[in-house]
Amino acid sequence: MMKECSFCRTKESLETRLIAGEGVFICEHCVVSAYKIFFGDIDNEENTKDEKKSFSGELLAPKKLKEMLDRYVIGQENAKKVFSVGVYNHYKRIFKQSEIEDDTEISKSNILLIGPTGSGKTLMAQTIARFLDVPIAISDATSLTEAGYVGEDVENILTRLIQAADGDVKRAEQGIVFIDEVDKVARMSENRSITRDVSGEGVQQALLKIIEGSLVNIPPKGGRKHPNQEFMQIDTSNILFICGGAFDGLEEIIKRRKGKNVLGFDQEKRAKSDDSKLLQDVEPDDLVHYGLIPELIGRLHVVATLEEIGEDEMVRILTEPKNAILKQYKKLFAIDNVELTFEEDALREVAKLAIKRKTGARGLRTIMEDVMIDIMYELPELVGYEVLITKDVVVNGQKPLYIKKDKKSA
Ligand code: ADP
Repeated sequence: MMKECSFCRTKESLETRLIAGEGVFICEHCVVSAYKIFFGDIDNEENTKDEKKSFSGELLAPKKLKEMLDRYVIGQENAKKVFSVGVYNHYKRIFKQSEIEDDTEISKSNILLIGPTGSGKTLMAQTIARFLDVPIAISDATSLTEAGYVGEDVENILTRLIQAADGDVKRAEQGIVFIDEVDKVARMSENRSITRDVSGEGVQQALLKIIEGSLVNIPPKGGRKHPNQEFMQIDTSNILFICGGAFDGLEEIIKRRKGKNVLGFDQEKRAKSDDSKLLQDVEPDDLVHYGLIPELIGRLHVVATLEEIGEDEMVRILTEPKNAILKQYKKLFAIDNVELTFEEDALREVAKLAIKRKTGARGLRTIMEDVMIDIMYELPELVGYEVLITKDVVVNGQKPLYIKKDKKSA
């Protein structure tokens, strides 16, 4: 016989778990109701506490947000600034809009981050979410499809956000959704590959629906939608959507547009000097040319561009952030009572290798792992030594220098 809650008669299911007593059952909803009857409304109390912690005016100031980003994200000064203001305005719209009573309504502005792979787009979104203490869901636009096709429904992003909020829909409704690789669902246009998935535009339409702010029905456990299923509702109007993409070839589109206004000699000179900063001049029309639908671009008011990471920044990324890779290795060594030192030259070589791989700063960790694996293998035997990593260790796989600590100080 199917078990059911003795209080509300709800049947046991994946969504409704029951606790058994002697000859009776109680479901989780009735447990919560019972708790509230005896001890008051826990939910509300917790929410206000969270709100104070995360969204006090002081914490939200763009400068504060940028300072926070500075601790983890190296370089990308302009992007961090634009991003901080975007995030600030978003939460100001949610929490402070009602402070001024008139009929001006601040519209929802989501954020588009344009920059090469491994330049810090996801990192920025993650860092801000952690700082604000809001849930974040990270997805890849290429895994999404229109409803009815093979792949993931767009709504699953929201299911994941609710999971990130530990099932608390209210918290999820103020969370952040990061959708990477939106450039890959740009629709086909005459100068793009014919093999591109034709459903790209359908995915954009589906994304638009959740991004523009609406009540969305989602299957509570994720997966595909099917008839006879119970749905949960989530309001997306206060969710901050951050889209990211490399937009390869966008520079060409911008150049072409700008080229029209510049003539001859001047054009050449300008093209050369501005190439790296070109993306900063991106306009909505360029994105339409690229293949994003205008309605979607219209929902991504804030556009921040990130630059490709150069050698100097790579070295800084290795050493400076709060959780920098080198700091982590040094700690791993210190636990075994071994000192780790990297010569500047060696760090530069690691940086160069990462640039060669063209995966941005993402490649740094793997390269470091490769360099360190043999040394880590021997680590417990190196107690009392300083391990000095020179350029040759990185480039030619030579052994590092082992310096006995006592000798050194003697
Ligand atoms: P993407 O731009 O492709 O989203 P990510 O933000 O995921 O790149 O970066 C991958 C990893 O590379 C990050 O987890 C981080 O360790 C490192 N990284 C990338 N850019 C930066 C940066 N500007 N500052 C510090 N670390 C970075």
